[in-house]
Amino acid sequence: MRALLVLALLLFPALALAEPLLRIAVHEGEGAVALEGERLRARALDGDDGYRPIPSGCLEVRLEGDRLAAEEFRTAALRLRADGPIAVGRWKVRGSVEILVHEGRILVVNEIPLETYLAAVLGSEMMPSFHPEALKAQAVASRTYALRKRLETLDRPYDLGATVLAQVYEGVHREDPRTRAAVEATTGEVLVFEHEPIEAYFFSSCGGRTATGEEALGRALPYLVSVSCGESEDAPRARWDLRLDAAELGRRLGLGAVQSVRVEKRTSTGRAEWVLATSAKGTTRLRAAEFRRRLGYDALRSLAFEVQKRGSEFVFRGRGFGHGAGMCQWGAQAAALDGRDYREILSHYYPGTELRKMY
Ligand SMILES: [Zn+2]
Repeated sequence: MRALLVLALLLFPALALAEPLLRIAVHEGEGAVALEGERLRARALDGDDGYRPIPSGCLEVRLEGDRLAAEEFRTAALRLRADGPIAVGRWKVRGSVEILVHEGRILVVNEIPLETYLAAVLGSEMMPSFHPEALKAQAVASRTYALRKRLETLDRPYDLGATVLAQVYEGVHREDPRTRAAVEATTGEVLVFEHEPIEAYFFSSCGGRTATGEEALGRALPYLVSVSCGESEDAPRARWDLRLDAAELGRRLGLGAVQSVRVEKRTSTGRAEWVLATSAKGTTRLRAAEFRRRLGYDALRSLAFEVQKRGSEFVFRGRGFGHGAGMCQWGAQAAALDGRDYREILSHYYPGTELRKMY
């Protein structure tokens, strides 16, 4: 962490000069990969030659030992450009594409300006029908989160992994004038704490009070404290219940049929911390986060739950959806409808942070 802080302090003034590029892993594999684009051109990164046109508009890249082979290229790394997006397998990406060998596999990395990336992903992270001030708050949180990832990954070949990819390029299809407007209205604005971009976590709904970073994510940070939240009781995910019979609960937990489940200990915000589950195998003590992982994040939607046994069935009743630390999206929506602007929303959920325009 110390090294990261120093790095951030050293680099942040430089980042302030221009919009940073994000590097996103869009494909990793052992076989060949085909890339397509209009007026596609390629350049070997270990040579002095410039870009060479690929007249067919399609380039197949194979692994040959520890080098890449594509048409006449034999190189360690290739960079591709096109007029318009480049297709990599099923995905279409904007910006440029670099292909390299990483740990014996072909890695395709998309370099994309941060703001272009945000316009593409914001629609996956928050509903475009949300209030414009809530969308702007989300744009700042997402920008800060991405920038922080970039600072943490400077010594790696990419900033964001392929699991994020699905969101990213699902996002391109979901580009929406409302989310794009929120990104443009907040261009370059980032949340900082002591000159460092913050870990801007966010989630769907908290059920009335957010969690601390420590209890939700094991991140005891001064700006991830528990705050009250004015989210509507009618928010679609504010209240939920989950019914599982003893056998199914046992199967998900990896135990036999469960006889009893009890929250042994709760956090200061009332969320489950430790859970005891008793089956024929005896009593198992699980961290509530692990209990939630085993039941499924979409099934047990948060750790703010009560559990009761009714006959052979266990009934979980809970509030909120997500880990609960940082900005509550349904709370941001309620605050925006109540007349708060995005700055007020951000300073409520990330207290003590400052909004700074970096470029
Ligand atoms: Zn909330």
